[in-house]
Amino acid sequence: MSSSCIFCRIIQGEAPAQMVYQDELVSAFRDIRPVAPVHVLVVPNKHIAALSEVTEEDQAILGRMLLVARRVAEQEGIAQSGFRLIVNNGPDANQIVYHLHLHVIGGHRLRFPMG
Ligand code: AMP
Repeated sequence: MSSSCIFCRIIQGEAPAQMVYQDELVSAFRDIRPVAPVHVLVVPNKHIAALSEVTEEDQAILGRMLLVARRVAEQEGIAQSGFRLIVNNGPDANQIVYHLHLHVIGGHRLRFPMG
C-alpha cells in the first residue's frame, strides 16, 4: 500500500469512492469521470504501478481482475449488450493513475478503433 496513491487510499476506505465489489485480491469502484453510462475500475488491492510491472507472482490477481470484470458487467446489466476492457500502460497510453486498473466500459455503443 502507498499512502500517496489515490487508489490505495480508496481500497483502504480512506478516500471516497462508489465501491461496487471488493474481495481479498481486488476492488472495483465507479470512475469519477465516466466516459460511458457504465465505467467501473477494477484494481488489485496490492499496489502494482502498471501492467508492465507485473510478475509471475501476480498471476492470481490478474486472473481475478478479469473474473471480477465479468461479474461487474453482469451486476451492471451490460454482460449481454457488450462492454470493453481497457488497460492504459505508460505515457503513450495516457496512464494517469499509476496503480494498475482495468476500465470496464459499456452501456451504449462504443466506437472502435481509437487512437
Ligand atoms: P488512466 O490512468 O488514464 O487509465 O485512468 C485513470 C482513471 O482513474 C481516469 O478515468 C480517472 O477518471 C479515474 N480516477 C482518478 N481519480 C479517481 C478517483 N478518486 N475515483 C475514481 N476514479 C478516479
